Amino acid sequence: MNTPIHAHAPKDAPKYVYRFGAQGTEGGAGMKNVLGGKGANLAEMCRLGLPVPAGFTISTEACALSTRDGAGVLLAAIEAEVRSGLAHIEAEMGKRFGDANDPLLLSVRSGARASMPGMMDTILNLGLNDAAVIGLGRKAGNERFAWDAYRRFIQMYGDVVMGLKPASKEDSDPFEVVIDRVKAHKGVKLDTDLDAADLQELVQGFKALIRARIGRDFPTDPWEQLRGAVLAVFESWHNERAVVYRQLNDIPESWGTAVNVQAMVFGNRGEHSATGVAFSRDAGTGEDLFNGEFLVNAQGEDVVAGIRTPQQITLIGSRRWAELAQVDEVERQARYPSLEELMPTIFQALLQAETLLENHFKDMQDMEFTIQEGKLWMLQTRNGKRTGAAMVRIAMEMLAQGLIDEPTALLRVTPDRLNDLLHPVFEPAALQAARPIARGLPASPGAATGQVVFFADEAEAWAKGERGDGRADGRADGRAVILVRQETSPEDLRGMSVAQGILTARGGMTSHAAVVARGMGKCCISGAGAVQVDLKARTMRIGALTWHEGDWISLNGSTGEVFDGRIPTRAVFESDLSGDLAALMALADRHRRLAVRANADTPQDALVARRLGATGIGLCRTEHMFFQGDRIRAVREMILADDEAGRRKALAQLLPMQRSDFDGLFRAMAGLPVTIRLLDPPLHEFLPHDEAGQQAMARQMRLPIAQIRQRVEALHEFNPMLGHRGCRLGISFPEITEMQARAVFEAALNVQAEGLAVEPEVMIPLVGTLREFSLQADLVHRVAAQVFAEQGAKVAYRVGSMIETPRAALVADRIAQGAEFFSFGTNDLTQMTLGFSRDDAGSFLPAYLHHGIYEHDPFRSIDQEGVGQLVALAARQGRATRPDLSLGVCGEHGGDPASITFFHRAGLDYVSCSPFRVPIARLAAAQAAVIEASSE
Ligand code: ADP
Ligand code: MG
Ligand code: MG
Repeated sequence: MNTPIHAHAPKDAPKYVYRFGAQGTEGGAGMKNVLGGKGANLAEMCRLGLPVPAGFTISTEACALSTRDGAGVLLAAIEAEVRSGLAHIEAEMGKRFGDANDPLLLSVRSGARASMPGMMDTILNLGLNDAAVIGLGRKAGNERFAWDAYRRFIQMYGDVVMGLKPASKEDSDPFEVVIDRVKAHKGVKLDTDLDAADLQELVQGFKALIRARIGRDFPTDPWEQLRGAVLAVFESWHNERAVVYRQLNDIPESWGTAVNVQAMVFGNRGEHSATGVAFSRDAGTGEDLFNGEFLVNAQGEDVVAGIRTPQQITLIGSRRWAELAQVDEVERQARYPSLEELMPTIFQALLQAETLLENHFKDMQDMEFTIQEGKLWMLQTRNGKRTGAAMVRIAMEMLAQGLIDEPTALLRVTPDRLNDLLHPVFEPAALQAARPIARGLPASPGAATGQVVFFADEAEAWAKGERGDGRADGRADGRAVILVRQETSPEDLRGMSVAQGILTARGGMTSHAAVVARGMGKCCISGAGAVQVDLKARTMRIGALTWHEGDWISLNGSTGEVFDGRIPTRAVFESDLSGDLAALMALADRHRRLAVRANADTPQDALVARRLGATGIGLCRTEHMFFQGDRIRAVREMILADDEAGRRKALAQLLPMQRSDFDGLFRAMAGLPVTIRLLDPPLHEFLPHDEAGQQAMARQMRLPIAQIRQRVEALHEFNPMLGHRGCRLGISFPEITEMQARAVFEAALNVQAEGLAVEPEVMIPLVGTLREFSLQADLVHRVAAQVFAEQGAKVAYRVGSMIETPRAALVADRIAQGAEFFSFGTNDLTQMTLGFSRDDAGSFLPAYLHHGIYEHDPFRSIDQEGVGQLVALAARQGRATRPDLSLGVCGEHGGDPASITFFHRAGLDYVSCSPFRVPIARLAAAQAAVIEASSE
């Protein structure tokens, strides 16, 4: 592995080309940054002695060079190395590039550092022209094969290098049009029914097409073909598909791709040739079972393209497939035999290769191979992509098998992918047939199917079975609905909670809809820009198509895809989970230092959180309770009251309701801390802003509508985010704080009286100065003393401060004189530190990410450089004043793995996140701990 790679390069010239083959391999698996994943692993397979067609890799540094200085500079820089690389291939394969009698043909393949399957381009059979095709056919004794290779080459080259693509996405591929014409002329259906003469006719047709559409002839000089292909593959790094994939997967633009130039081997040389893909374990379930598919007499992507039904590699896989496909054993053996049955010797060689590779890389391998006239060639291996379920199972089984250690097992599972195991999923077969109609942000994972409804109250009515025309999935009492909104607001909460899923046209990953949906563990797609909601007409339009209220759509909250129609889903219950998830969580708990709490507002949420392993509630947003039932009425009375007496009267109605809420929370979390935040949002959020809503409110409260309108206007703020909210409410209206504190302590004493342990923590929001904090904290202490005196009992409690204004972070040492704990509200802290309103950032954030001004959405993953400094500073200063100060995070970042790593390093005690993200946070916390341990 450690061959000195620069040995033969001139000392001053940078090295761009690295060879691989049976001899003279220069690269290896450790060189992914330079060679890309494909190139590095091709080299590694050569080192392991596996049969790999000889080739060379042009490095990612060449890609950077071509991006920076252009194609001309690149070609000049690599010319000599490419020529000598080709000589290496020629020597090893015993053929010459450009030889008309027995041509060496090449594949030119992209390969980035991180695998981006299918995102960039590949060209096969390069080196063919009108003369070489004759030589190839004669040498192979198979004219049809030669012409088929040639027509495939022109097709790929014409598309990738010469840019002959369908005019628009509705148009068919121009090459396929020619193929269809020739097939129709001959009266056949399948490509395989075309003979050598037909394929020759295709070649002429393709060339004419290129000349007509591009205005240039197809290049016949192999060297010109090679230069064009290499440049085009480097170029494909910048194609739209690849750009989008990189954005979705956080792959930096600067990495670039490598280009692999390799001798062709042919799976289409007849009945003893084949091509296929194989996995060392099951990528769907994680089962430790070698599996894969192949096609006899086929080339390249034929297996994936789905033109013919591929066969299974193993006998057991073949039998399982036959059962699903309802093919009986006789037919299976005759028409779809496994490779194990058909070519037993090759199968054994492949089996050995997969075992060798998995043991070597110590991870599940995804391999590509080709069999040419009875000889096996390995074309690729990589750590296979897999479902969340497979990730967990493979990690835990490899740990048990002694292949990997505990830290490695923990790091093998991408925390976010645990979602896959905890949310409903679509029936795979139905999903295959589904038609995507739009795409938005994958705001909250899961699969949802239901009838379109545009208003939250109607969503409730439909879900209760009061309206609608279809039957809900598995629910006897109501309809399955998808709430479709321009965006959501707190008023929509109940409609959201009864919907199967939520689709919004506007808003980002931390929009109201997204945050609430994640908290509910409910499927949500936000910011689907193509969706045009017409509330008047009660329609949703996407392009030229229209969906009406009651029409069925389906959402995949994990991918952001919106589908037409009804796709059946099935719930993943805890009992479905293999014991592996439980084992992984136990392992994570043993390794992590950070505690994980949940943000939960109701006893139901709290119970879910507890079941998923939360050891406390880090944030209960009391205002969420204000919207339920007839509470909103009491809240509105309080807001409309002219004086303190009037407010106290309304608050007295709220007291028993809040008390029972807290009662339920304390019970659900008995023995664990529960952090309750005092009222936070501006009061206008509790009033209706539209005419109809105000009228309804006037009627209900028997008040003139003018009075309501006036109050709404009086409460209007130009910038509510920085307005009359947080502890400013409690400073202006201490009676609100009093009521809330009383509800907390009365509930705590009630529950404690029943012998359950209670640990209430009262949290003051939006604090900026010690005095501000103390005014509220003193009030809370006073109410506590009152309640304790009234009831003749006490409960231990703490009063702490949110740290969510930059000022609070800066004077944390002072605030800690009063506060017994800090909870970082990183959403507000991010807004105020960056000066970005999170509800408005959607209009410029994409451009900011594109320009790399911020690397990630700072509302999703904490801005470590800026906001992170404030967190670290406040943590340090706070602890300087009060060494036992407890430190936590309750912003959305508490559930983001990268942010969790940061909070671990900053020395916090816990993170708090949505209940459904608790397992994710537990794993991320363990990963942070093992990464730290390994770097020590
Ligand atoms: P992707 O990254 O999209 O998988 P690849 O570069 O792996 O693209 O190429 C796609 C397919 O082309 C491979 O699966 C393989 O079947 C075929 N292929 C690539 N290189 C060769 C080669 N040297 N000989 C034969 N087939 C090849
Ligand atoms: Mg491949
Ligand atoms: Mg806040």
